[in-house]
Amino acid sequence: MQIIDGKKTASEIRLALKEKVSSAVMKYKKPIGLAVILVGDDAPSKIYTANKAKACNEIGIQSFLYRLEDGIPQEEILALIDRLNRDDAVNGILVQLPLPKRYDESNILKSIDVNKDVDGYSAYQIGRLNLGKPELVSCTPLGVLTLLDTYQIPIEGKEAVVVGRSNVVGKPVAQLLLSRNATVTICHSRTQNLAEHTRRADILIVAAGRAKMITGDMVKRGVVVIDVGINRDEHGLCGDVDFDSVAPKASYITPVPGGVGPMTIAMLMTNTLKAYELQNGR
Ligand code: NAP
Repeated sequence: MQIIDGKKTASEIRLALKEKVSSAVMKYKKPIGLAVILVGDDAPSKIYTANKAKACNEIGIQSFLYRLEDGIPQEEILALIDRLNRDDAVNGILVQLPLPKRYDESNILKSIDVNKDVDGYSAYQIGRLNLGKPELVSCTPLGVLTLLDTYQIPIEGKEAVVVGRSNVVGKPVAQLLLSRNATVTICHSRTQNLAEHTRRADILIVAAGRAKMITGDMVKRGVVVIDVGINRDEHGLCGDVDFDSVAPKASYITPVPGGVGPMTIAMLMTNTLKAYELQNGR
């Protein structure tokens, strides 16, 4: 069994990006910028946005962090996004989720210029992915595929089972696997006999948000397991996979923490560079 080390992979990607960013900036003679909008005081969101700004600084992308009070009228958020949409110094725009309940999340996300949608949440970017012409793909799913590729895990022709069908993880992961010619099964909360599906998997991606729900008896020997889940139990952080019972049967497995998590920010940086290049006519 081999551990898929997301932390190491992400740090190698960030290092390589630093060079790519510097040559892109030289080529197009203008800086790359990412705007991050944080509304309210949610503690984890503050950490995530600070980490995003730190990653930008580390690789040479300018970061613009907008911290807005919870209670600010929605029109003002929309006006800020409109301004950022038209600002040449901003190549990517990200609204940190979840927004406080009072706001219409989908309306706010919809107002982001699709060419600056580095989170890949817009109908346009999702549509491109589904048409097999991906441009800016949602960061966590892209991180999952990048981990499989980094560890040279074959995808074509394999039985891939995805547990979870959210728009931000499950569905785009399934589309990416399909585009790489896996045979894909998507499971969700109404799936009957989940274990019958997961036991068929050569590649098992779990993004359900249920602590340790996949146990050793639910997988076959040699399976590659990517655990996207981040949960907190009495011992601290854990994934959706019961690592102790699944790892002995797996050929490859991601730990939690240190698996998919660190890849998400690395992919955000990758997408910001890509958006910049697309905007500059690459
Ligand atoms: P979500 O929107 O809550 O979706 C969860 C999905 O899992 C739903 O499709 C749900 O089915 C399905 N599900 C729930 N319970 C199930 C069960 N018992 N059996 C089978 N399927 C079940 O969550 P998400 O945003 O996709 O995130 C999933 C997990 O990944 C969470 O733990 C989240 O914290 C984590 N995450 C991690 C990262 C990262 O950077 N590592 C990024 C994003 C998310 P229905 O559709 O039928 O309800």
